[in-house]
Amino acid sequence: MAIILYARKSVERENSISCETQLEYCKSVIKPDERNEKIITFIDNGFSGGNVNREGFQKMMKLVRKDKVSKVIVYKLDRISRSLLDFVNILQEFKAHKVEFVSSQESFDTSSPYGELIVKILMVFAEFERTSAINRVTQAYAHRSEMGFYMGGRQPYGFELVPTVIHNIKTKKLNPIPFEADQIRYIFEVYAQENVSLRRLLDILISENKKPLNGSDWSTAKISTLLKNPIYVKADSDIYDYYDSHGVQIVTDISMFTGEYGAQLYGRTKHKSDNPDWSDMKLVLLTHTGIVDSDIWLKCQRKLEKNKRITNSYSNQTSWLAGKIICEKCGYTMTTIKGKINKEGEMRRYFNCTGKSHKKICTGPKLSIYAKDLEDMIYDCIFEKLSELKGRNSIKTKGNTAEINDLKLKIKVIEKSEKQLMDTMLAGGFNNDLLNFANQKATQLKKDRLDLYERIEKLKSKETDTIVNFSKLWKTADYNRKKAVAMIIIHKIIISEDNSVKIIWNI
Ligand SMILES: [Zn+2]
Repeated sequence: MAIILYARKSVERENSISCETQLEYCKSVIKPDERNEKIITFIDNGFSGGNVNREGFQKMMKLVRKDKVSKVIVYKLDRISRSLLDFVNILQEFKAHKVEFVSSQESFDTSSPYGELIVKILMVFAEFERTSAINRVTQAYAHRSEMGFYMGGRQPYGFELVPTVIHNIKTKKLNPIPFEADQIRYIFEVYAQENVSLRRLLDILISENKKPLNGSDWSTAKISTLLKNPIYVKADSDIYDYYDSHGVQIVTDISMFTGEYGAQLYGRTKHKSDNPDWSDMKLVLLTHTGIVDSDIWLKCQRKLEKNKRITNSYSNQTSWLAGKIICEKCGYTMTTIKGKINKEGEMRRYFNCTGKSHKKICTGPKLSIYAKDLEDMIYDCIFEKLSELKGRNSIKTKGNTAEINDLKLKIKVIEKSEKQLMDTMLAGGFNNDLLNFANQKATQLKKDRLDLYERIEKLKSKETDTIVNFSKLWKTADYNRKKAVAMIIIHKIIISEDNSVKIIWNI
């Protein structure tokens, strides 16, 4: 039997750690009683982890399949594969041939069930990191955009591109075309009125013979795209808040949101669910003057979002907890069904006992189980569980406790000010100027509070010496990631007749 040390260095990444260094790391986790075993090294220099068609890797697998290997050691998990599917398949093959698998950096060992579970969760996120490599491209954009360059893309209606020089770099800026700008203002103003639907707006534009300059016709889709574009708005602190609350990363400093400049949204939108996830999107202020006032622009966004929620509600029937929820009374699974649309135009989903709906043998839990509520609760529970996991392999240092506590106190003070400010605002009696000031103050307080939270997170992550910060990864997980992690980590969620929730963990 042999112990295999496997190293891979990719072609595309010049500065990545060398195979020799990787092997040194691998050697460091060989146990004393294994020193007498035969050590074989396999190296793939200049291969990507995107697939398993690598010479060294295939040779290694041949030995594995001949049952000649007791253990495989790598520097990091992603040396084996960057694809979750490949990785899981390889792990299963290792298992079938009784091969232990050890990574020197992620400090785990598949010989324990615990280790096996960790690998699975890690790989969910490893895949996530790969897809977010695409974001590096947007980061390059971000640097450009801080300086107010037009970020490219199709030239928006209402503007012409004129050459300009910013910071000694020749670029282009947007200049409003007066005639088209008037039309845009008109479109926003009409749509902002109550009872004007996109369809109605289109009819008005056609009947008034208001055409785009290039002669093509309007469609509701075109108008909708135009209405959503922040390039037209005079971006002020309300616009900052609007995008901030949607999770968009705002590149330009808040002090620049003076109600003058237009903005551009760029990056990838994920449209997997009803709530478009904007967390990969960035907003930057450009150098041109906006066309539409922020209150009118925001009114239009609220209308568009309301429409969207209603028309898309049908697809909003699934939950990332699907298949995991069991009715305690009858033992059948509970599935999501859609409920009524509330005043805000949101459709509520709830979990329904299939023993009740399909088999008619159960009465189900007494109260409705709203999917969003249960998801939020389980989300928090998983967060705690993952934070715990991180702690298991690590040594905690107490050094940061005092500092963390201090920051927590500061947060309490801010929360108090926020509440006072809110109470005063709600009590009324503010004129517009004061209200504006209070709003700005509230935004600043919120920002301060979030900064403090971030600092606490940073201090906390310093407490542990594991490489992977599960809880941080969990926070950035999208629907599919959440679902994958829930599949691994949760065995069942049992709902009793009196609506109490019991989670049975796999870990
Ligand atoms: Zn039931």
